[in-house]
Amino acid sequence: MRKKFIAGNWKMYTTLAGAKSLALGVAQGVTDDAVTVAVCPPTCWLVPVAEVLKGSHVGVGAQNVHYAAEGAYTGDLSPAMILESGCQYAIIGHSERRHGLAEPDLFLNRKVKAATAAGLTAIFCVGELLAEREAKQTEAVLEFQLAAGLAGLEAGALGKLVVAYEPVWAIGTGKVATPEQAQETHGFIRKTFGKLFGAEAASKLVIQYGGSVKPDNAAEIMKQPDVDGALVGGASLKADSFVKIVQAAR
Ligand code: PEP
Repeated sequence: MRKKFIAGNWKMYTTLAGAKSLALGVAQGVTDDAVTVAVCPPTCWLVPVAEVLKGSHVGVGAQNVHYAAEGAYTGDLSPAMILESGCQYAIIGHSERRHGLAEPDLFLNRKVKAATAAGLTAIFCVGELLAEREAKQTEAVLEFQLAAGLAGLEAGALGKLVVAYEPVWAIGTGKVATPEQAQETHGFIRKTFGKLFGAEAASKLVIQYGGSVKPDNAAEIMKQPDVDGALVGGASLKADSFVKIVQAAR
């Protein structure tokens, strides 16, 4: 039985005071470990948010990570730096980086390998553009993103991997995949993962759905057998709506 996992992606929002108070509100609303919960604040607030969340039932994730251990990489952070900032998770390949900043698959693959080897759990995002869905390319796109992004990942790293299916047309748009679309696509991702890493690993893989998840649609989506939680953007910026999504996952 896979445990549901809800992660909040705060993107480039919040002040320091706002981030601390949002983290506190989430910690107060999540009172046990029935669901795995994490928040991913802007990088500059990782340390203070991790401080607030110490001893709570809420983990911390970074929104990005570099693959190198150290070096001349202006503006980037290594997996060890992210870990030492108090994180357990790192989002990799979010569409706002994959498409918005043209991060290539090879780059994402290196990040997944480096992050998991360092002990972070990688939340690896995949998802198709609207034009690709309309052209019935969804499965081909996902198959490619999974094969390229996870190439060469060692069996020992699979326990440190979460896949987030985020149809790009549903992120921040208010358009949400229907529960049937989500189930069909998550089932395909699990089957594809099984071809890459075997049936047992596929049965354990946590696959989050992301794309305009809100308190009023979360339960219906997460009821689907292959939907194991959610990666939440907009609705994670208010403690009460994020906590309601966590409650919907129970
Ligand atoms: C996201 O940022 O990963 C996301 C899914 O955003 P939203 O929930 O706002 O669509």
